[in-house]
Amino acid sequence: MNRKLDEIFLLYRTLLNYIILYPKLITLNSIYQLPFLLFGKKYTPKPLTINFLITHRCNLKCKMCSFFGRKTYETEERDMEFEDVKKILIGIKKINPIISFGGGEPFLREDFVDILKFAKHECNLKVTVITNGTLLTDKVIKTIDKLDLIDYFIISLHGLFNLHDEIVGLKGAFDRVVSNIRRFSKKLKSKVIISSVLMRENIFFFDDFIRFFLNEGIRKIKIEHLNFLTKEESNFYQKENIFMPFTFIRKDLFEKEFIEKAWHTLINLKRKYRSKLIIKPPLSREQFYEWYGKKIGNSNEFYRLRCVFVRHSLFIDPQGEVIPCQFLRNCKIGNTKNNDLLKLWNSAVYKNIRKIISKSNFPVCFRCCK
Ligand code: SF4
Ligand code: SF4
Repeated sequence: MNRKLDEIFLLYRTLLNYIILYPKLITLNSIYQLPFLLFGKKYTPKPLTINFLITHRCNLKCKMCSFFGRKTYETEERDMEFEDVKKILIGIKKINPIISFGGGEPFLREDFVDILKFAKHECNLKVTVITNGTLLTDKVIKTIDKLDLIDYFIISLHGLFNLHDEIVGLKGAFDRVVSNIRRFSKKLKSKVIISSVLMRENIFFFDDFIRFFLNEGIRKIKIEHLNFLTKEESNFYQKENIFMPFTFIRKDLFEKEFIEKAWHTLINLKRKYRSKLIIKPPLSREQFYEWYGKKIGNSNEFYRLRCVFVRHSLFIDPQGEVIPCQFLRNCKIGNTKNNDLLKLWNSAVYKNIRKIISKSNFPVCFRCCK
């Protein structure tokens, strides 16, 4: 199929998946802004989603985590004070985007529920939270439920029982998360999306995994493709002195037989579970084969999709710095503690960064799950 057409189809399927996963997040504000992505200045006048990385600390050590691979957790970096978080949220309120809290593990912050209360009830924002689900106490679950603090609860799980524990590096993690989810009310459970990353370790066990969680009353499962570079690709980029952002490094590419089998497995799962299973990004067969089986670095022919994400959304790091995404953490546009967020979004610096991202070959962008 024509590559341009393939790219348009991918965008269309991505939008459709978003609507299926998060119907409650579709607002008039977002619908009104979408045409700006296609015409005129090609970015939305205001960010549609703000991903607030509220802490870099985490209690797990997932094998595929780009943070963990770079030992970020071992720094002494302090989280921002609650008063500063509030100041940023007041700034965000004027823009009225969706706010997605993540980390690290957000529930490691003792004031995280207070942050949620402030975002939801003082700022009237739509709120999603990405968590590994291990730290949810009874009290936290009840408060979130009673005060209706979260619109979508995205809980990361990567396999059943020991498989999950091995991937995240904590014995008993799976049981802990499942027992937490079982304490959710029906209403809260209906907001849960289980989010997994596709890996060699789990791809052939997803059928049991999906069935398990649908039986637990979960309505949607999301599988994201693995963001990675091989050792060889990473060496190539370093030798060429190309800016090397945070990426998970694997030993090598996936072999052809594995890719064949993995593709058929995913197709069958999608046929079986239909809209209950969302695969992100929704790659075509050709894109899938390139993602897992083609070396990048020496060839311009790699399926390079232009980044749409930086044209409609942004990230804020735990120090309040605006960054284009979690993989470009050194690319700081300005701090929201002392700058107007909308001014940063429309600043010459950000415009330039969008141009650079669109034209450059940042290795991490080749296999980006956004
Ligand atoms: S839970 Fe998330 S942030 Fe923590 S190690 Fe796993 S992938 Fe990384
Ligand atoms: S990694 Fe690259 S493609 Fe992905 S969101 Fe960031 S800038 Fe965009």
